[in-house]
Amino acid sequence: MYVYEEIIDGKKLTEIINQTHENVKYLPGHKLPENVIAIPDVLEAAKDADILIFVVPHQFIQRICSTLQGKIKPTAVGLSLIKGFNKKEGGGIELISHIISRQLQIPISVLMGANLASEVANEMFCETTIGCKDKVMAPIFRNLIQTSYFRVVVVEDVDSVECCGALKNIVACGAGFVDGLSLGDNTKAAVIRLGLMEMIKFVDVFFPGGKLATFFESCGVADLITTCYGGRNRKVSEAFVKTGKSIETLEKEMLNGQKLQGPFTAEEVSYMLKLKNMESRFPLFMAIHQICIGELKPTDLVDCIRSHPEHM
Ligand code: 13P
Repeated sequence: MYVYEEIIDGKKLTEIINQTHENVKYLPGHKLPENVIAIPDVLEAAKDADILIFVVPHQFIQRICSTLQGKIKPTAVGLSLIKGFNKKEGGGIELISHIISRQLQIPISVLMGANLASEVANEMFCETTIGCKDKVMAPIFRNLIQTSYFRVVVVEDVDSVECCGALKNIVACGAGFVDGLSLGDNTKAAVIRLGLMEMIKFVDVFFPGGKLATFFESCGVADLITTCYGGRNRKVSEAFVKTGKSIETLEKEMLNGQKLQGPFTAEEVSYMLKLKNMESRFPLFMAIHQICIGELKPTDLVDCIRSHPEHM
């Protein structure tokens, strides 16, 4: 396991993990299996691997791929758990799995689902979705990942699975604003539903060819629900309304070095929508971005979705 090296109380994080089998910074209170070895050099961690599993904040993926380029097994395959998009050189946005696949020249499948990390670590029952087109790899991934408490459904609709994982983080910010404003459960449900409709429309417009059924898998409606109730994006967005502090400040104060994905994804999605002149078709996504960057007040949220295209 590659671990970005940090010094915690005068000791290297990798050494702490290898001695105590606990990631004291990012997953405190949970024992890791003893065969998981923390390695601070990404090249050393990845060089002989047949299956590479990517789980880093999406801000860091390009740098990691540049380091790995040409230095991994050419027969390796990847599984990405990263929920987000990146801006493409020359315009548009790109899915993270496409970036990894292009840079490393290996096929990438994805895993997304209602999987809040601390609950998974506590071995509480949940489901997940793997998006994999390769009929040989699909059962291999499933058998590798599935346990009695972590149930896997494999679908072939890879891009929709990944889009769901990325887009629901934007909706979670909206849910957090609603909580911060104490607007009630009906409003929150409306934001979640309109968010789901915008997710479906976004995938249809920008990554066409997917199946509506994918939105009913764990990566879709289930991840949307868990993130809008228990996720970090919701929590920080609620605090954003209640404290008036910036998202960046709250990320530092509340997340202990973890990175928030929602506001970043909202920025990339709104960039894409502006580029294609489609802002009016996605008023919730646009409003959430504008609130995150201070162009709108949180109290403007409801007015932005009062005349949603869904109501016309
Ligand atoms: P947050 O990043 O909002 O905590 O959501 C976690 C998640 O993606 C759950 O599946």
